[in-house]
Amino acid sequence: MSNYIGPQEILRKKSEYLIPCVYHFYNEPMQLVRGEMQYLYDNTGKEYLDCFSGVSVVNCGHCNPQITEAICEQVKTLQHTTTIYLTENIVNLAEQLAQVTPGKLQKTFFCASGSEANEGAALLASLYTGSSEFLSLRQGLHGRTKLGMSLTGLSFWRTDSAPVGGISFAPNAYCYRCPLGKQYPECDLACANEIETIIKTATSGKVAAMFAEPIQGNGGMITPPLDYFKRVKEILDSYGILLITDEVQTGFGRTGKMFAIEHYGVEPDIMTMAKALANGTPVGAFTARPPIADVYTRPGASTLGGNPVTAAAGLATLKYIAANNLPARAAELGKVLKDGLLALQEKHSMIGDVRGLGLMLGAELILEGKIPAIAEIDLIIEKMKDRGFLLGKNGPNRNVLAFQPPLVITENDLSNMLTNLDEVMSSLTPS
Ligand code: PMP
Repeated sequence: MSNYIGPQEILRKKSEYLIPCVYHFYNEPMQLVRGEMQYLYDNTGKEYLDCFSGVSVVNCGHCNPQITEAICEQVKTLQHTTTIYLTENIVNLAEQLAQVTPGKLQKTFFCASGSEANEGAALLASLYTGSSEFLSLRQGLHGRTKLGMSLTGLSFWRTDSAPVGGISFAPNAYCYRCPLGKQYPECDLACANEIETIIKTATSGKVAAMFAEPIQGNGGMITPPLDYFKRVKEILDSYGILLITDEVQTGFGRTGKMFAIEHYGVEPDIMTMAKALANGTPVGAFTARPPIADVYTRPGASTLGGNPVTAAAGLATLKYIAANNLPARAAELGKVLKDGLLALQEKHSMIGDVRGLGLMLGAELILEGKIPAIAEIDLIIEKMKDRGFLLGKNGPNRNVLAFQPPLVITENDLSNMLTNLDEVMSSLTPS
């Protein structure tokens, strides 16, 4: 007999002791107790193929032995000092980030989460430009803090009824349901062009920065056309507005390149990161070009930011990604998965759209007339869980199946998952 308390007791304690905003998936959730690369195990010993990675975190796999060893070694030696004392992991990790991030991004501030990274990046942009107005994209998600939530363009994640002002939202490049009713490429990137109109009409003209995820994760894997960000950057540059790319979900090999913005041939002025940077150890960071970074001179400290253990995890993660060429692996396996999903789309009319890059893919589920298949997606992810496959879901209507497995997943795993998804969807629709 195991010593685990089990899902029912967890649910009871959860409702009694956790603030109820901490929601969970599934009608009948399991208790996860162990992870090993692309697999998770529950308290009964049942194995699950993880296709969501704790939302794009464990790119190198659960409890990756090489990363775990580096963490354990550091935990046993020196866990914490804070940045008023000199330690070396933090500067070595910052140096490596300067090497792997695009363009002239060079100087980093470390914190403990993605929300905090975006807060910090916004502050830096304000210090540099003297403005505290921002642009953001509809359906974007940038965090759970006051400003992060205010920058978020999804009402599902906007609980605060008194958000921060001075933020204007631009239509996103959601080609499957174009917010401007147009079609790519005849639209001539009307959604990007709209940013200029918004600057001219909804702002003072002096805006600090625009926040954008290269691919909107929670927004439903919204993947802009490959010429989109060049146009956006041109517009922003002409008004002296910085581009802050939020790579919290897209970073570290996920999309087939180290960072998703590299697909678009654009160099951001500031980049924010978290999640996969330390493969599951709490981390956040923002990196900027030196002229921008160098205006932040007054003391700023994050007690746990860049602590020796997290930084050791980050260094081991970057080493593993490079040694195993995970971005190329994500590109290759992403093609296999996308082709598989497109083949399922031929068979199942419920799959309205398949989109994404590398191993960051989404399948938008619809009923007749493009109505979001909301109840159906819940049934699908529940049945897939029962069969031992964990899928994600997101999008403004919560009807997009999300596929973001650990990048160490195999072709055989993906093929198994697709076979099961096909069977589960067939059991729902008399196609
Ligand atoms: N930005 C993006 C793109 C995210 O997906 C998330 C979390 N899902 C955040 C920011 C916030 O990160 P955290 O939960 O680490 O605060």
